[in-house]
Amino acid sequence: MTSILRLALPVPLNTLFDYRAPEAVVAAPGCRVLVPFGRRQVVGVVVERATDSELDDNKLKPIERVLDAAPLLTPELLATLRWAARYYQHPLGEVVQAALPVALRSARGLPESGVPALRLTAAGHAARGDPQRRRGTRLDALLDALAIGPLSGADLETRVAGFASAVRTALARGWIERVRVASATRPHAANAGPPLNEEQRQAADAVIAASEGFAPFLLDGVTGSGKTEVYLEIIRDCLARGRQALVLVPEIALTPQALRRFRERLGVDIAALHSGLGESERARAWLAAARGEAPVILGTRSALFVPLPNPGVIVIDEEHDTSYKQQEGFRYHARDLAVMRAKALGIPVLLGSATPSLESLANVGAGRYRSLPLRHRAGLATPPALHVVDLRRQRLQHGLAASTLDAIAACLAKGEQVLVFKNRRGYAPVLLCHDCGWSAQCPECERALTLHRHAGRLRCHHCGFEQAIPRACPSCGGLALHPLGEGTERLEEALSARFPDVPIVRVDRDTTRGRRMRDALFDSLPDAGARILIGTQMLAKGHDLPHLTLVVVVGVDEGLYSIDFRASERLGQLVVQVAGRASRAERPGAVILQTHDPAHPLLGVLLNGGYRALAAQLLEDRHNAGLPPFAHFALLRAEVKQRDVLDAFLAVAATAANDPAIITHGPLAAPMPRRAGVFRGQVLIEAADRAALQGFLPTWLDAVRALPGERKLRWSVDVDPVDL
Ligand code: ADP
Ligand code: ZN
Ligand code: ZN
Repeated sequence: MTSILRLALPVPLNTLFDYRAPEAVVAAPGCRVLVPFGRRQVVGVVVERATDSELDDNKLKPIERVLDAAPLLTPELLATLRWAARYYQHPLGEVVQAALPVALRSARGLPESGVPALRLTAAGHAARGDPQRRRGTRLDALLDALAIGPLSGADLETRVAGFASAVRTALARGWIERVRVASATRPHAANAGPPLNEEQRQAADAVIAASEGFAPFLLDGVTGSGKTEVYLEIIRDCLARGRQALVLVPEIALTPQALRRFRERLGVDIAALHSGLGESERARAWLAAARGEAPVILGTRSALFVPLPNPGVIVIDEEHDTSYKQQEGFRYHARDLAVMRAKALGIPVLLGSATPSLESLANVGAGRYRSLPLRHRAGLATPPALHVVDLRRQRLQHGLAASTLDAIAACLAKGEQVLVFKNRRGYAPVLLCHDCGWSAQCPECERALTLHRHAGRLRCHHCGFEQAIPRACPSCGGLALHPLGEGTERLEEALSARFPDVPIVRVDRDTTRGRRMRDALFDSLPDAGARILIGTQMLAKGHDLPHLTLVVVVGVDEGLYSIDFRASERLGQLVVQVAGRASRAERPGAVILQTHDPAHPLLGVLLNGGYRALAAQLLEDRHNAGLPPFAHFALLRAEVKQRDVLDAFLAVAATAANDPAIITHGPLAAPMPRRAGVFRGQVLIEAADRAALQGFLPTWLDAVRALPGERKLRWSVDVDPVDL
């Protein structure tokens, strides 16, 4: 008797695929197999074994080859992925594919073992012995660290701060070479941290006491209250019980500094999983976790899908961060799925933030999550003072008020640092003709082109279209073309004109394009001395800035007047997060909020009551307006070059959505109705409870899939969307 294998294949079809396996072949669920599919060969994952199939025997193709002797995916992970595929209405084959590191999606053998390391060459030893050698540089520290023997990148991090550019220099000079070493790191002792204070102790104990079952917690701790110390204490307990800890951090926060802190404090190897790694490095870390060899896994969003044979705890740091939402393909939310996984694994999950999402606060309110508050800042740090600067009727210099410039000058005079925050790169968001009112628009997106003065270009930040800056107005021929508004490039120009002797570091996507540039820039961020840092979202968190005492938020009003109902939550989180950066040190910090609406009620709530008060107000507003987390949404998005095809498709899709349990909104224009020449629209489905939404979606989407012109468009569904 042959047996049937039901496989998840990486194809966008909502079904499992049956294949025949010869009797002798054992492939348990979770193993990868190579199978013929059409004219290709693809790698699939065994989901189930069965004895019969709906397909005729002669239609059943045999599998080509079994790729894994033992399952790569644990039964729990496979079950969670199946749950997620159903919940997010995404084909299981693609969900399974998203969970696997790229190197494991093909039939090539598993990556070679051993850990990549760096070793001093003979030339390197000679350079070290050179009496002319410059002491005290990072290059110098690197040579010293390697003199005893080869070190992995992870090990180097604990010995040389910001070593990336030094490594490149040393490699280029032939002083060091890449090798592989057998063991991950040299064992080292864990450094004891500061003793936990009372609040931290209580929080850690609560999680530790619950470690034998599923228990969701919200660690609601103001910035600098020592949340990381609480994580470390819980992980230490978890390691002592021989269990694994999975820690997720936002995209931007997984820095060498963060890895170093965990490694030093826990005294074990940390398996890092993030997009900055090479494919085989990622696969190796993933496999180490899957084999139970990695005690601690620290990664960004997709690290959530690492198999955990000895699960102990899951920690989601900065749980409010939007980078936990996958915005294309399999659109999952890693924070929400983490809670589901912890439930399936029967372990505690700890969500931590100084500015918790309204979703998590609502879960606390409903008694689903237990709140662990940390209200006091650990160590000596005092909370920063928030100041509102009224921009009305002021003469602005490139968007900065005179009093703001004075505050910056005073801060620099003390030898301290300033962060000027503006979430827009480029010189100005609009180029406007003062004579006729023409402004430069992207022909493909119907949005303003951003002026990049330094590069001499107008660029569309939505589709990548660019052109030279016109010398005269294309509409009236006039020469009065003026930049309107300001981006980071313009702020840099204004501030370097005003403070010509002060070093300025600008951090945005334009200044961090190459890995080289980025590493060098980030390596230099903690340096001391009077400096101005100008940055977008990229600087709002992550790197430790110990000398920073003043933060200026230039574009507060954009957050107050956005049409996105989440904008005020995001603004509050941003202000509190950047404020937290300003006084980690002993010196008290200050935050300046520039606005044209100093009397805006939400600003008042934030200033007087802090994030807690703001969140309470926003939750009440959302409740009254029937918005998430008090309602549940799913969004059907569609895009196509022909306007009429889009309109027809969305109209029929919206009509097909008739069910008393849901409310259909639309067809609606997308927030960007046209991008890169493509028309975009959407249908929003609303339900009072999750179960109703989940009950409705499969039937509706089956109907949408069966629509005649469906193949002519690109469309997708987003369950619990964060951008509407
Ligand atoms: P958070 O993650 O809440 O922003 P951290 O865990 O990074 O805070 O801690 C902020 C700072 O306070 C760090 O420098 C940390 O070493 C210090 N710290 C944390 N807990 C304590 C404590 N109990 N005693 C003294 N210092 C502490
Ligand atoms: Zn004009
Ligand atoms: Zn465009």
